[in-house]
Amino acid sequence: MTQDIFWNFSAGPSVLPKAVLQQAAEEMINWHSSGQSVMEMSHRGAEFVQIYEQAAADLRTLIQAPEDYEVLFMQGGATAQNAVVPLNLIALKDAHKADYVVTGNWSKKSYHEAQRYGQIHLAASNMTEQVIDEHHYAPATWIPEFETWQLDPEASYLHFCSNETIGGLEIATLPDLDALGAPSTELVVDVSSHFLSRQFDVQKCGLLYAGAQKNAGPAGVTIVVVRKDLLGKAADICPSAFNYANVAQAHSSFNTPPTYAIYIAGLVYRWLLNEGGIAVIEQRNKRKAELLYQTIDASDFYHNPVQRRYRSRMNVPFTLADESLNEAFLKQAKQAGLLNLKGHKSVGGMRASIYNAMPLEGVQALVDFMQEFERRHG
Ligand SMILES: *Cc1c(COP(=O)(O)O)cnc(C)c1O
Repeated sequence: MTQDIFWNFSAGPSVLPKAVLQQAAEEMINWHSSGQSVMEMSHRGAEFVQIYEQAAADLRTLIQAPEDYEVLFMQGGATAQNAVVPLNLIALKDAHKADYVVTGNWSKKSYHEAQRYGQIHLAASNMTEQVIDEHHYAPATWIPEFETWQLDPEASYLHFCSNETIGGLEIATLPDLDALGAPSTELVVDVSSHFLSRQFDVQKCGLLYAGAQKNAGPAGVTIVVVRKDLLGKAADICPSAFNYANVAQAHSSFNTPPTYAIYIAGLVYRWLLNEGGIAVIEQRNKRKAELLYQTIDASDFYHNPVQRRYRSRMNVPFTLADESLNEAFLKQAKQAGLLNLKGHKSVGGMRASIYNAMPLEGVQALVDFMQEFERRHG
């Protein structure tokens, strides 16, 4: 292939900063003259403990985690958290209830999994009950307004997903649970695909979690940020390795943690701090998303169905008016170095994920290609 510049729009695992990959390559065989690769180190040795402590401290700085919050590096992905959250938190109140908001594929999965562990109430949704019960998913274009969320004051927590990676829907602010009549309910948020992409008020949440492979590192490590006073109420059947209290007490080494994934995630946090932190990266993400959505909206050839105020800055699905051109689009995009643009099977068309590590230059290359493709085929 003659193409030598590539832009990776994968939804996850996804693009990492070039500088991070370069540093990892340089340090691969002999980390900081230790004579070992990070992959070969004991997770209890001084070298890895230093790597872990730095990664955790940098992450805390980035998200401005208050003192009374734990930052945990776990395994099992965001999918495991669908069970781990209720196992740890459903008994915060005696009723063993929780509220769930379903706005897309991911929160729907969370809602279904939680039902094995307590009395789960659907607080709001943009889908019919029939669609929620079925396996398939109809792409949604909107999010139910906070005022319509029907909360049970006896619920231990309220779960929602703040960025639906497949539908391309983002909830940019957090609901006020006092105003919704549930002042003692904890907010639990799946932030997987926009974690570290925008400023976020950790303090309003009891817990948030993210699989790292979208925007916060490689696959294999899952970030959990949880307020300390919520620990210690796990159900008896909760696996020890998934009990937040155990993981917190052991500084994420209750058992062998995913050491190499934590190391790479740590390099990503360092890179983010060097770039100027979340506020700076958020402005960049805003410009990138605006450029892409403006291109889509300015044409009849491309279409994004999501109402503007709910559009995700991270995941941008779009369809071609003439679907028979999908394959040609993907093939020519690949030849132009634009990778992994195929949409999720439940939505069809294309999806461009433009996470932190995707520079404006990459989005510009995509937009230039889209306009050129439209000129040739429109
Ligand atoms: C990818 C994703 C998940 C699933 O993550 P795994 O790490 O594969 O378990 C859950 N929620 C959201 C919002 C996601 O984007």
